[in-house]
Amino acid sequence: MMKLLPSHHAHNIREVMRRWKLLQKSAGMRATMLLTIEGHSIFGFETQAAKAGAPAFYLSTGVHGDEPGSMWGLLLWAEKNIDKLQRDSFLLLPLLNPIGMRLNTRADHRGLDINRRFHLTDDPLTSAWQRWTAERPMIAAVCLHEDYDAQGCYVYELGHRQKSIGRAILTRYDGPIAVDPRSRIDGQRAKDGLIRRNKLPMHLAGMPEAIELHLRGCPLTLTFETPSEFSLGDRLVSQMRFISTALEVIGT
Ligand SMILES: [Zn+2]
Repeated sequence: MMKLLPSHHAHNIREVMRRWKLLQKSAGMRATMLLTIEGHSIFGFETQAAKAGAPAFYLSTGVHGDEPGSMWGLLLWAEKNIDKLQRDSFLLLPLLNPIGMRLNTRADHRGLDINRRFHLTDDPLTSAWQRWTAERPMIAAVCLHEDYDAQGCYVYELGHRQKSIGRAILTRYDGPIAVDPRSRIDGQRAKDGLIRRNKLPMHLAGMPEAIELHLRGCPLTLTFETPSEFSLGDRLVSQMRFISTALEVIGT
């Protein structure tokens, strides 16, 4: 895997977007430009089935620029699954914070954490995201992230149903990085890598993407985190495996 990705490539956003453009062509996806920042365009891609209105599986990453494992994980998963993209309904946001990714910073080009701004109607990026997602029905959303405190992989689950889908996915997940064993993660109760939220956290300064999607009616949102102090190769393979397992369990 590391041959595919020399370490100096970790934050090479031009390479990442060049490969998404190739994927767009080979999978027949439609690209919508949400915003351009310092010459870097932020795209949302939709597959043919999504364009035709079939409820989509939503996959996004690159919200935080210091989390390259999830950006590469989504790209490499997509490159291995072109047939799926040609056939099934997907919405894909491969890099929401290009300047942060280039600079290896959590914050964006304004010094802001995008993942506290998804509720805002006057933010140029998240308001464009709101318009793009508004008309598009979803089966489930997976937001891919990394965490430098993590000791393994873990998942936040937010759903409108009682039964946990996150548990079923983690039981079948077989990535090279095991689940985080801690019973408290990020100040919240966790069990075998799963944090289920019944109540929305009130301490946040603004809305993360997953919570905003939940409030807008997405039936299931999962935020997957890999530990960013672990090896990049293992992190991106873990990200790819989580996406594949989530698709198997949820179905497209
Ligand atoms: Zn993150």
